[in-house]
Amino acid sequence: MNMLNEDVTFYDLKEAVRNKEFIMYYQPQINIKTMKVCSVEALLRWKSKKFGAILPPYFISMLEETEKIKEVGKFVLEEACNELNMLENLKYNNLSMAVNISGKQLEDESFLNFVENVVKDKKVRTDYLSFELTERILISPTKPIVQSFNGIRNLGIKIYIDDYGIKNSSLDYLRQFAFDGIKIDKSFVSGITNSQKEFIIAKNIVDLANELDIDSIAEGVEKEEQVKYLKSIGCKKVQGFFFARPMDSKNLLKFLKNFEERG
Ligand code: C2E
Ligand code: CA
Ligand code: CA
Repeated sequence: MNMLNEDVTFYDLKEAVRNKEFIMYYQPQINIKTMKVCSVEALLRWKSKKFGAILPPYFISMLEETEKIKEVGKFVLEEACNELNMLENLKYNNLSMAVNISGKQLEDESFLNFVENVVKDKKVRTDYLSFELTERILISPTKPIVQSFNGIRNLGIKIYIDDYGIKNSSLDYLRQFAFDGIKIDKSFVSGITNSQKEFIIAKNIVDLANELDIDSIAEGVEKEEQVKYLKSIGCKKVQGFFFARPMDSKNLLKFLKNFEERG
């Protein structure tokens, strides 16, 4: 897992796509008030025959550069929709599914059409589906990006800003686009209990979300104390290793069952 980006070649990626070496993991998101699982985030995993298990930071950017993200992104959305339908059939019908979408996908003019076809084909309840976009994508949006964004929302799919506040300081896009929620990056969550500064930043992000009447999800929650702080500032949802690591579909079902029984 401690492999460097440079070790992976375009050829390796092409082979991985061809050999279907990608699988989806799912990480639960918990409603802080009810302490029940309300959604899961779909996270891509590469089980490489050559390198072993590889995490997204080592290959997502290369998938984007080679345009292979379109093919893999198709797999991601289809798998996430299958999982959402399976959860519904197993009576986990109040769970939503969050899917990460890369800028490359959003600016592709055929993306909207593709999403429309997938959700129609799979008969997915679109109000239980959300897309996570990093703010980088929206700072200087092109026309296709704006069209995809609006089209996605018209389909009833929710849109969240991922990694909020870490790279860009522009708030203009918040005014320009209608979001359903903000994800507070783990870098702000990690210091929330012992740094006044990080507490204030996290509180400001949550206040902003609450005043805009949109959802807030804190990611990278690893300690119980962080949950308490996040609850005290009015954050709506939490996600992180404290509750569960990302896991495959089989383990997700086990987790959901245990979590339910724990009450
Ligand atoms: P992200 O969307 O911000 O996803 C959250 C990352 O934080 C995940 O890393 C997750 O495993 C990790 N994480 C969750 N809880 C904790 C915690 O308590 N502590 C710590 N230290 N980390 C935690 P992962 O799976 O390696 O994904 C990294 C990034 O790769 C994602 O960041 C996302 O931007 C991208 N990515 C993952 N899957 C996809 C995908 O299907 N499509 C696209 N376009 N991007 C993806
Ligand atoms: Ca995400
Ligand atoms: Ca994030």
